[in-house]
Amino acid sequence: MNENHEYNGSVAEGGLTHVHTEMSEDAILSLEEIGEYMRDHLRSEYFVVNDHLTSPYKGKSYSEAEIQEIIEEMLSRIARYNESHDRPKCVSGIEANIITNGVDIPDELLAKIDFVIASRHFPWGNENPAQITQNLISAMTNSNIDAVGHINSYVDQPIDWNLIFQTAENTNTIIEINFNEPPSTEILRIMSKYKIMYSIGVDFHTFQGLKNRIPIDSDVVIDFAEAKRMAKSQEDVAIKMKQQYMDEPVGFDVLKQLINLMKQLEDHGISLDKVVNIRSLDSFLALIKTPKSQRIL
Ligand SMILES: [Zn+2]
Ligand SMILES: [Zn+2]
Repeated sequence: MNENHEYNGSVAEGGLTHVHTEMSEDAILSLEEIGEYMRDHLRSEYFVVNDHLTSPYKGKSYSEAEIQEIIEEMLSRIARYNESHDRPKCVSGIEANIITNGVDIPDELLAKIDFVIASRHFPWGNENPAQITQNLISAMTNSNIDAVGHINSYVDQPIDWNLIFQTAENTNTIIEINFNEPPSTEILRIMSKYKIMYSIGVDFHTFQGLKNRIPIDSDVVIDFAEAKRMAKSQEDVAIKMKQQYMDEPVGFDVLKQLINLMKQLEDHGISLDKVVNIRSLDSFLALIKTPKSQRIL
């Protein structure tokens, strides 16, 4: 590993939340490959996989029995990974889709998962501000939902942020600061008035970049859905892409971005001890295994 990419140990003690594996239709690396990559390049203590069951943009639906089967397979895969890997450890998670009146995963399954993020992905453009606010609030009042992901995504109209962050405070719901879509200065300013916990979510679909794309070479950019189709029909392409990811030491860029987001929080008077994934694994697990209503900042 290049010396220039040496990692700051204090940041490496925490964990990365909101990592997608190949289980998400729009991501490509396996759980084990992510673990290997993080061990070599990021050195985080743990990572939380927050897959969605299928591309949130397609809105494909599974039966309840299929969802249960997928989640149980995911949980046993994580358990097997943790039995054979010391570091980084993997924490179970999911990125549920916020829909009207709740999320797309049944509560009894959410209860089995350690770190549940709920995010709005669809529909967008046809929701009014009151509906967006209502959908976010109903997710936050669910005791199985730990965090709301990329809270400002797909919100193109003024909504009642005070009401949303007041609800986050009242329900102990963690607000995600998303790598791909960090909150605006205005939203940060409003957030900072409330006693809320945060997670810094990397929302990685790959470690290559922070965008949902793969540069195969200097001129060509292929999106993940396309890449996955290619991967199915042309194995050599898949191997080439995977090799490129595994070799690329982006750890330093990730560190820089983490630090930038932390600085932004601090600039708004938000203390970093409110960021749950800066904590050690033991402390993070102790928090998320405490019933939501009893969590103390
Ligand atoms: Zn998302
Ligand atoms: Zn995501």
